[in-house]
Amino acid sequence: GYQRVLEENRKLYNQVQDLKGSIRVYCRVRPFLPGQPNRSNSVEHIEEGSISISVPTKYGKEGHRSFNFNKVFGPSATQEEVFADTRPLIRSVLDGFNVCIFAYGQTGSGKTHTMTGPKELTEQSQGVNYRALSDLFLLSEQRKDTFSYDVSVQMIEIYNEQVRDLLVADEIRNSSQNGVNVPDANLVPVSTPSDVLELMTIGHRNRAVGATALNDRSSRSHSCLTVHVQGRDLTSGTSLRGSMHLVDLAGSERVDKSEVTGDRLKEAQHINKSLSALGDVIASLAQKNSHVPYRNSKLTQLLQDSLGGQAKTLMFVHVSPEPDAVGETLSTLKFAERVATVELGAARLNKDNGDVKELKEQIASLKAALARKE
Ligand code: ADP
Ligand code: MG
Repeated sequence: GYQRVLEENRKLYNQVQDLKGSIRVYCRVRPFLPGQPNRSNSVEHIEEGSISISVPTKYGKEGHRSFNFNKVFGPSATQEEVFADTRPLIRSVLDGFNVCIFAYGQTGSGKTHTMTGPKELTEQSQGVNYRALSDLFLLSEQRKDTFSYDVSVQMIEIYNEQVRDLLVADEIRNSSQNGVNVPDANLVPVSTPSDVLELMTIGHRNRAVGATALNDRSSRSHSCLTVHVQGRDLTSGTSLRGSMHLVDLAGSERVDKSEVTGDRLKEAQHINKSLSALGDVIASLAQKNSHVPYRNSKLTQLLQDSLGGQAKTLMFVHVSPEPDAVGETLSTLKFAERVATVELGAARLNKDNGDVKELKEQIASLKAALARKE
């Protein structure tokens, strides 16, 4: 009796789980920086969803190469405009989804600018991280008559395959895992945007430890702000969990191994390893392989629940307009093009989620009934 119903529900549940969201890719081109010589622009043309690069002979066929993405932001796009297209994802965290937003690109292409903002932070220049959390509080406030939400955050750094908790400054063990594949880093409850600002300041300060003027470690480590949301439906009493990873990846540039030694070589090898592990995971998701090699790096382990399953994933791919950067720009855009092909299924977001929630609840109550029988 129960066993059969349970089986049937599980099948249904798995079917709903299979209707996954696809990976969205937004490209952002940073402006030329003040004080730099005014040089030719390697980015020729930008439209709403496409970008065209002029390719010098040195990189193969001379000419132009165009790429299509869900969205392309030009050098004059503001932080507010960039965030406006990210907003729907924030809502789905409160609906109980896992969301992952990550920034990819070579060092100096604008990853930190998009995720955090410039060094001298103003309200206008705040990046996705702050805006996402402010939005989360705003939305949860709007729902306060029907839902109660608890929000907490973690901040970690992955450097040379070591995970460091940025909120306590100690190296941490990657032992037991909580619900969303985040190691046992400090989980700090937050309830206002200023709580978040304070924590991020601590995190950034800790991240700077170990960096020197010549050794800006931030470009060679991945940093990840994770937000956990626990929601309770005040009328039915049911609960849901959502999470969001906001990841500022290490610079994607290939380091010439013949030119670096010692620590730099080790770092380069670790970055290559984790970014290619990320590429492998994405490729096998794109090919719908049954085995996805999440376990090949700390980064992919961390993002496991955000890259498969019912997660919503957004990649910001960054390019610099500098002609010197065109080789990296091309490989960055080719990587992004591959990511954009990962079609994980129709994004019937709210409805699917409703079904999943309902089925999860049914499974839980059937399990409880089963336990009582035994
Ligand atoms: P990354 O994190 O990829 O190494 P940064 O975000 O640090 O790159 O950007 C490099 C420099 O360019 C910084 O000084 C940053 O403030 C500036 N910058 C990047 N993107 C923009 C942008 N969209 N508008 C203005 N300045 C930018
Ligand atoms: Mg950076």
